[in-house]
Amino acid sequence: AENLLRKSEMLSALGEMAAGIAHEIRNPLTALKGFLQLMQADSASNQQYLGIMSNEFNRIELIINELLVLARPHAVTFEAGSVTTILKDVIMLLETQAIMNNIQLIHSFELELPDIECCDKELKQVFINIVRNAIEAMPDGGNIYISAGLVNEKVELTFRDEGKGIPKDRLEKIGEPFYTTKEKGTGLGMMVSYRIVQSHQGVMKFDSELGEGTTVTIQLPIKQ
Ligand code: ADP
Ligand code: MG
Repeated sequence: AENLLRKSEMLSALGEMAAGIAHEIRNPLTALKGFLQLMQADSASNQQYLGIMSNEFNRIELIINELLVLARPHAVTFEAGSVTTILKDVIMLLETQAIMNNIQLIHSFELELPDIECCDKELKQVFINIVRNAIEAMPDGGNIYISAGLVNEKVELTFRDEGKGIPKDRLEKIGEPFYTTKEKGTGLGMMVSYRIVQSHQGVMKFDSELGEGTTVTIQLPIKQ
């Protein structure tokens, strides 16, 4: 009986999700169709229409790419891995983008952290999503502090930014599919990240102070 209940819950969650995706993808598609019709009627403005169309195509691509992480098209293998190695990778990857936005990525990692059991590709995606959000929260620049240490027998990571922060009553919305406050956001990054952290037996939480900044904390079990 418990299984059946879980199944029906899963099916209704899936239905909601499908409805959300359909809606998000229908909007840009409707726009694209409209512009195609305009272009057929008015070839003089075609350049402008092409620009808008290309933006809408990019948006569909972004949504599909973020969802594909969740669909796990790649082989997910959990192996012994080091979070500091993954974090260093991510810092290297995003350093240029940070600097272009007047942002410094400052890290402090405890030496000799124990390995965790992980899919490093997926965890990397989580850390990228979090640091990107931090960068996007600081339009005027600032610092992002990234730490990794051992706390209560778990590997604990923190990502602290000095950005705009999140209102208390919005904290619980983060991670809901398509919840975004950004004009070009998809609202999928944190949903995907929560899922991945969960599949690693870990927890992720947000603390934030409006106008002060946001801290994302992730705890992951160490490899037995
Ligand atoms: P997106 O980045 O596409 O908006 P996410 O799922 O990554 O989607 O984030 C959802 C929302 O959570 C963001 O639109 C933003 O409002 C909020 N958020 C996430 N991280 C931060 C942060 N570090 N500072 C402020 N707001 C944040
Ligand atoms: Mg994001």
